[in-house]
Amino acid sequence: MTPHPDEKTCQSCGRTMAWRKSWKNNWDEVKYCSAACRRRKIRKVDQALEDKILELLENKPTGSSICSSEAAQELDPSAWQELLEPARSAARRLASKGEIHVTQQGQSIHPSTAKGPIQLVKRPPQSH
Ligand SMILES: [Zn+2]
Repeated sequence: MTPHPDEKTCQSCGRTMAWRKSWKNNWDEVKYCSAACRRRKIRKVDQALEDKILELLENKPTGSSICSSEAAQELDPSAWQELLEPARSAARRLASKGEIHVTQQGQSIHPSTAKGPIQLVKRPPQSH
């Protein structure tokens, strides 16, 4: 899943960003897809969610999946609802780095466009 040269991944929310005219002078430096993402960047909790997702998957047999909300619940059982969207962002970032697959109903999907609950699957060790 190498990004198209005219696409990159937002470093905060993990969504794919397509080249835009307004970025023509600084495309190489563009890191975030929106002002909100630029403000948020990656917080400690975001990194913790990535680690939690990988840890949960580590303890599962290859091929089994978790829901992104499980990572949120594990990380903060009292306020996990607030972590649901950050958990999806963490999943998208991991998927863009090739560390996990994102699926819905057993089908591999592109996490940028996914709506509704997403399942996270550990990438098999031999996959390209
Ligand atoms: Zn973003």
